[in-house]
Amino acid sequence: MDIPGVDLVIGNQDRERIIPYVKQISESRQPINAVRNIMKNRVFEEMDVPDFADRTRAFLKIQDGCNNFCTFCIIPWSRGLSRSRDPKSIITQAHQLVDAGYKEIVLTGIHTGGYGDDLDQYRLSDLLWDLDKVDGLERIRISSIEASQIDERMLEVLNKSSKMCRHLHIPLQAGDNTVLKRMRRKYTTEQFYDKMQLIRQAMPDVGITTDVIVGFPGETDEMFRNGYELMKAIQFSEMHVFPYSQRNGTPASRMVDQVDEDIKHARVHELIKLSEEMQLSYAQQFVGQVMDVIPEGSSKGVHGPGKVHGFSDNYLQMIFDGPDDLQGKLCRVKLTKAGVHECEGQLVRVMDEQPEVLV
Ligand code: SF4
Repeated sequence: MDIPGVDLVIGNQDRERIIPYVKQISESRQPINAVRNIMKNRVFEEMDVPDFADRTRAFLKIQDGCNNFCTFCIIPWSRGLSRSRDPKSIITQAHQLVDAGYKEIVLTGIHTGGYGDDLDQYRLSDLLWDLDKVDGLERIRISSIEASQIDERMLEVLNKSSKMCRHLHIPLQAGDNTVLKRMRRKYTTEQFYDKMQLIRQAMPDVGITTDVIVGFPGETDEMFRNGYELMKAIQFSEMHVFPYSQRNGTPASRMVDQVDEDIKHARVHELIKLSEEMQLSYAQQFVGQVMDVIPEGSSKGVHGPGKVHGFSDNYLQMIFDGPDDLQGKLCRVKLTKAGVHECEGQLVRVMDEQPEVLV
């Protein structure tokens, strides 16, 4: 191993072996390359319940790795192929998190929507129905899901489960079919658009957020413009916009038609502006409505004393007057003023307490 100053290189899956390796290095004074072939890992690595005592939402990892091999992404090479966590272990942990006081669970993974690809007759939609039955759990959120993974059964869960948050993060990445094909994404712009309509039919008022990469190799002005129009037509509730950056070892990094950095940055700014317009427009639809919000703690110092903030089920950040001890309690909050990144609200009722109208 010839990286100056580095004594140990080790894969994420072997982190419990760090201390023995450090001891070995301190005795032998020889650097160690302990990296193994991640592609041979086919079983989900179990974890204990994490300690999130000061947080409102618990993040529950259900999946690792990815089989998609998008041309810009190094993840399948660094994290291996898709592995799903045993459903029984997930449900057990969900009960433990609820017992520890959590009302919301966010299901996470590298390619979360791919949950179940390696299981027999058990899909993400089955897991969601099983989580729906966990008493005391109020909200289930999926960190991210691909449009192509939202099938009939998933639409049914979105439509019928009262615990599913009205928020989905669905990466678009590009809004032009030529770019999508070169990215090796599994949908066309038409399929993506149609899927968004089906989701909105199943779950009215859902906030759909997305990731977009701009300046992918070969992206012309016309292709970028096609994407802009598609995003505007879909009306995302927020977009996370990234300039394309080359990842060593990926097919896209070897493409010859890389886009100039200045062009990428101009496109990023244009899409951020579009995102902010869409964020405000989405939030404005809810002015006057009462939303369920779980405060995440005091906003002291940020929004002033006596203010709390938290997210609604459709992922609008709400700031409102209330005592610090509201943290973690399910509150009903009337949205009084829409904003781009945060909205103002008025506390109506704390659901965990005796019904009491405060305003
Ligand atoms: S971008 Fe997402 S779907 Fe594509 S390879 Fe990476 S993790 Fe997988």
